Amino acid sequence: MKTNTKKICPVCKLQGQEVLRKSDSGERLTYKCARCGKFTITHTAERMAEKKNLGPKLSGWIRNLFELGMDIPEINTNSLTEIEQSIPDYNPSDKQYLFLRNISRKSNYPGDGVSILPELDYPLAWASAPEEILFYIRFLVERGLLVRGDKEDSLVLSDGSVSVAKSPYGWEYLDKYEQRAIELSQAFVAMPFSESMKKVWEKAIKPAINDAGYKACRVDAEKHSDKINAKIIAEIKNSLFVVAEVTEHERIVYFEAGYAIGRNLPVIWCVQKEELDNVHFDTRQCNHVVWETPEDLKEKLYDVICAVVGRRKKI
Ligand SMILES: [Zn+2]
Repeated sequence: MKTNTKKICPVCKLQGQEVLRKSDSGERLTYKCARCGKFTITHTAERMAEKKNLGPKLSGWIRNLFELGMDIPEINTNSLTEIEQSIPDYNPSDKQYLFLRNISRKSNYPGDGVSILPELDYPLAWASAPEEILFYIRFLVERGLLVRGDKEDSLVLSDGSVSVAKSPYGWEYLDKYEQRAIELSQAFVAMPFSESMKKVWEKAIKPAINDAGYKACRVDAEKHSDKINAKIIAEIKNSLFVVAEVTEHERIVYFEAGYAIGRNLPVIWCVQKEELDNVHFDTRQCNHVVWETPEDLKEKLYDVICAVVGRRKKI
């Protein structure tokens, strides 16, 4: 049934957005939102998204599909769970990269100006508000990755828009970043090679990493050595993230994780519940998994990987 009703967007709450189609007696509505783009959502999924506070993430997800010219996504309770699991918690540097990539799609050549309306375009940077995308734009200009497309004093023009263009450095930066993301499907695992940890590796860590779509790699280090050997360094450099299992408090594990942190790689810490009080990291500030059984670790680690780095297609 065709309809021209205007409604508040259930995802980003923008007033007066067009309802393109109603089906299943109104249970399923297809919207065209000026901020999110086009999507179909069921009432139950709408309520679920609201309860889980998924608004900004979902808005970023829909808008990015829309920008890519993909089919109108269908959001129901099942797909919403899948979507939620597949969207990582992007950090500010990821968001700047993703925004830069969107600018690049919109521009035909380096220096080609693109007009951004922060109020409607903040999902292009997976941001939650216009202020957040403005913050990234300012920072990208400061980093030399974007240049202003106008000669005005203030960044935001009188019509509320911002004009930016990707600088040659921005193109170079994107190339490097993308190359890295394509190549890296490996997770480095820092953990002891002890007999007691064998089961943890085989039944929990390795399958959790594989299920999230990554290849798990671990290198046997010289026992109780404080030195990181060349092989370990090479493998960490080839990894997208690191899983550090610290239940046995092996110093080498902390060294490997420390090296990864120094390279700005996400580190996911794992520790068995009984040893939690003895570990050398602040669990309040880190991505961590406190586990009781290998089965428990497998499940929790998988969830944290999906949340921190995102899930890849199964390898
Ligand atoms: Zn919307």
